[in-house]
Amino acid sequence: MKADVLITGISQLVTAQGAGPKHGRTMRELKIVGQAAIAISAGGIVWTGRESEWKGQAKAIIQAGGRAVVPGLIDPHTHAVWAGDRLADFEARTSGSTYEEILAAGGGIRSTIRATAAASHDDLLALAKPRIDSLIASGATTIEVKSGYGFTPAAELAMLEAIQSLSAISPARIIPTLLIHIPPPIAAERSSYLSQLCEELIPEVARRNLATAVDIFVEKEAWQVAEAEELFHRAKQHDLAIKLHSDQFHCIGGLELGIRLGALSVDHLEASGPEQIVKIAASSTIATILPGVSLHLGIPSTPGRKLVDAGAAVAVGTDLNPGSSPLFSISEALALSVRLNGLTVEEALVAGTVNAACALGIKDAGRLEAGCPADFLVLQSSDWRDLVYTLGANPIRDVWIGGKKVR
Ligand SMILES: [Zn+2]
Repeated sequence: MKADVLITGISQLVTAQGAGPKHGRTMRELKIVGQAAIAISAGGIVWTGRESEWKGQAKAIIQAGGRAVVPGLIDPHTHAVWAGDRLADFEARTSGSTYEEILAAGGGIRSTIRATAAASHDDLLALAKPRIDSLIASGATTIEVKSGYGFTPAAELAMLEAIQSLSAISPARIIPTLLIHIPPPIAAERSSYLSQLCEELIPEVARRNLATAVDIFVEKEAWQVAEAEELFHRAKQHDLAIKLHSDQFHCIGGLELGIRLGALSVDHLEASGPEQIVKIAASSTIATILPGVSLHLGIPSTPGRKLVDAGAAVAVGTDLNPGSSPLFSISEALALSVRLNGLTVEEALVAGTVNAACALGIKDAGRLEAGCPADFLVLQSSDWRDLVYTLGANPIRDVWIGGKKVR
């Protein structure tokens, strides 16, 4: 066997095995190889195993120096493109102002929508690039980025165009999602906006290949189940996958709708109860938990332990956004999922790799196996568990994407 690069001196090579989501107990089944090596050719993994068993030839040999290697992490949920900031909201909230008072003072999500609409393409790109760089430094090799701060089809398209440009200049694999976030504030405009989305925006996004999925925020104060269903049917007609923000504050049937329509993932689930847990555990939909939101807003944590014990396939994301989760590190999100959601260290790694890939509809990612892209991380430590143990310092030394060291 011939390889472009052989990485040797790996203290532990750690990965989930086999394509497809890992449910329940299987989230704890990792393969750990000691004194390991990885052979890379044309950007992909061609061989992994014990260093002593490598029989091929490599053009270059790189020493990992006795450090652990894990798959590149996948952040399946971010809102990394926005303008403006929510610092005044943060100060007001932490000084005792209510959500209504913050909204009345011109803050909240609508301030982000105004600032994002006012920003140029280049401004949005310049603002988002360092956020993506932070996520890469934290171990993310694939990053989902949503629109959703537009308020008109044109503003959503502008966000998706910024995400497309971001993808062109970033070494990470960027997966774009059209997020239909919140309805217009004036009730009378709701149904005409809905038909604009169905008749203009979704077909245009599909035609221009600007997103792979449509995500909808289903909540008492956002879109209702019947409205989401109409939007999702239109998305499916255009071969777009579907995802939901649901059960964040109330269970109004979003999770059930997602499961019924074969959503890739239902994200949030802080308010999900036993009924919802049983339903998602029995489905093929990924349960994505976002611990940064619970930490930042002080809302209850998603019952991660109960979801895994019930047999669900759980993923973890940062939900990077200015209002509810200013979390710029995917490895920190995994570390938080162990503390706040009760995942084990093994489950956290699976939630941030192979299951997160499935939440984005990607088959061959999040694993260190022949045939997968050579996306992996060399940790600072010889023990992979440092990845989810460490808080506040970066446990990652090198980031490789497509067989190239990008950091
Ligand atoms: Zn979100």
